[in-house]
Amino acid sequence: MKNLSSKRILVAGGAGFLGSYLCERLLEQGHEVLCVDNFYTGRKENILHLMNHPYFEVKRHDICFPLYIETDEIYNLACPASPLHYQFDPVQTTKTSVHGSINLLGLAKRVKAKILQASTSEVYGDPRVHPQVETYWGNVNPIGQRACYDEGKRCAETLFFDYHRQYHLNIKVARIFNTYGPRMHPNDGRVVSNFIIQALQNKNMTVYGDGSQTRSFCYVDDLISGLILLMESGNEETGPINLGNPHEFTILELAEEVIRLTGSKSKVEFKPLPQDDPALRRPDIQKANKILGWRPKVELKEGLMKTIEYYKSNFRKNLPRQKNSIVRETEKIPA
Ligand code: NAD
Ligand code: UDP
Ligand code: UDP
Repeated sequence: MKNLSSKRILVAGGAGFLGSYLCERLLEQGHEVLCVDNFYTGRKENILHLMNHPYFEVKRHDICFPLYIETDEIYNLACPASPLHYQFDPVQTTKTSVHGSINLLGLAKRVKAKILQASTSEVYGDPRVHPQVETYWGNVNPIGQRACYDEGKRCAETLFFDYHRQYHLNIKVARIFNTYGPRMHPNDGRVVSNFIIQALQNKNMTVYGDGSQTRSFCYVDDLISGLILLMESGNEETGPINLGNPHEFTILELAEEVIRLTGSKSKVEFKPLPQDDPALRRPDIQKANKILGWRPKVELKEGLMKTIEYYKSNFRKNLPRQKNSIVRETEKIPA
């Protein structure tokens, strides 16, 4: 049933990993959701269960092109997010962040919609300040392999703040730190999906570098709560605001935890560290806690177990076809 406070909400990138959970949660809250996606890294499977919902609509569209619709709120999550995927076609990655943001900001300006940008901890680059606080300007290599994503997202933040200053748009910028959970694309090369799939297949765990680099992993449900709280915060609250789990682990610790939780026979295999791979990452979430009353609830072990179960049941359900398809998919970039 739609409620009286129901809004028309556009989720760009709604068929992706995070976007599909966001669409689901907004529908549960009684809103009308338009998912706009070009299915570059997103999948129909992520949103199949929503297709028959009377207030859910899907539009295949690339946000690099103008979009004329009516809406009350816009979440911009459209952008490939894993290094493997965003480096596959780096020019398209930058276009998506820059041209795509301009179009959605132009749309927000015309229809007077509130607009939220899914920015990233990558705007801090390989940080010299630890943990990362929102006032830190970052340390990004503007000409490296990660720049299409990092600089694209930095430019998107600039655009959001200029539309805010120049046209008084109601903007929200969330800096999202590494988030994981069921529905992560098995082929996206991110560390959590890679390690779980390798562990379930008893294959070597590919640790890049010596595994001493750190990340802080946020479970998807926690992240979605943070995004919605930010969108619902007062007009004066533009962000940027860090959303992530402050528990920091080395990549080697993560590999060992996944081996333990899956009971796998896998061994760690060290591989070369990719260019500009950040050495340390942990969010300072005091701002999110103070302004939104938000902090993550799901511990790594619990979130990993849910994610492991997801991949296990996807392996088992369609054996042997699914097994082959994941093996094939992990060798192919991108989907
Ligand atoms: P994802 O790749 O699963 O989702 C991105 C979605 O955007 C996909 O459905 C893809 O098809 C769509 N898309 C890409 N380019 C598009 C375009 N030009 N037009 C329309 N749709 C397009 O990634 P995700 O993990 O769900 O990330 C969602 C957003 O959150 C991204 O903007 C990402 O940068 C940001 N983010 C994610 C994380 C994380 O750890 N998952 C961390 C920081 C930031
Ligand atoms: N735009 C859009 N939908 C709208 C309004 C604008 O996609 O409903 C796009 C349009 O392509 C435009 C961009 O947003 O180029 C920026 O709009 P803005 O009004 O800021 O600038 P201008 O139209 O002057 O270029
Ligand atoms: N990583 C790894 N093995 C893998 C995939 C990633 O050791 O199979 C490392 C990667 O080098 C980085 C960290 O894990 O230090 C997180 O990588 P991911 O691609 O998930 O996200 P990033 O934070 O780099 O965007």
